[in-house]
Amino acid sequence: DSKRDISSKDLDNLAKTSFPLCMHHLFKKLREDHHLRHGGRQQLGLFLKGIGLKLEDALAFWKNEFSHKIGPDKFDKEYAYNVRHNYGKEGKKTDYTPYSCVRIIMSTPGVGDHHGCPYRHFSEENLRATLGTLRLSTPAVAEVLEKVRSHHYQLACATAFEAIHGSPSEGINHPNQYFDQSQKLLQS
Ligand code: SF4
Repeated sequence: DSKRDISSKDLDNLAKTSFPLCMHHLFKKLREDHHLRHGGRQQLGLFLKGIGLKLEDALAFWKNEFSHKIGPDKFDKEYAYNVRHNYGKEGKKTDYTPYSCVRIIMSTPGVGDHHGCPYRHFSEENLRATLGTLRLSTPAVAEVLEKVRSHHYQLACATAFEAIHGSPSEGINHPNQYFDQSQKLLQS
């Protein structure tokens, strides 16, 4: 495995440069609210594991965020198990894999949830505003929205990738594959 280890202090930078919109949104909400509901913790937590965040760093990262709101003891009691569980250290000891685009697109986030795929689950207005914050040009935003209107969410994501990186993408089928493609381009 040639993947480098990621430390929790790298995450802000990586979120800016290489997270797809679904993970960028969850990361931002976690930083703002110091909380995410279960669906968001799973979607983001497994993605972070997939990019190389080790268990100890993951625990420190989630604990640091959640502690702002609920305090460290409550985190240890109610949330640490779930982080260890995702790394295969509790329960059935399954080493859970990060969710694919199809799985995320098919998910059904409710009110107060931040998981899901923004291309599928955001309103057009909200998506337009969010793409603006990524500094996508107006024609690029228009192209993304056109793909969304024809329900081609992964193509919309690939279009955003290309606009952000100024380089063609291999197509997007997994958030971790988006991340790897981005890192490959940025490191080359
Ligand atoms: Fe995330 Fe996939 Fe949606 Fe892109 S298409 S935002 S990688 S779920």
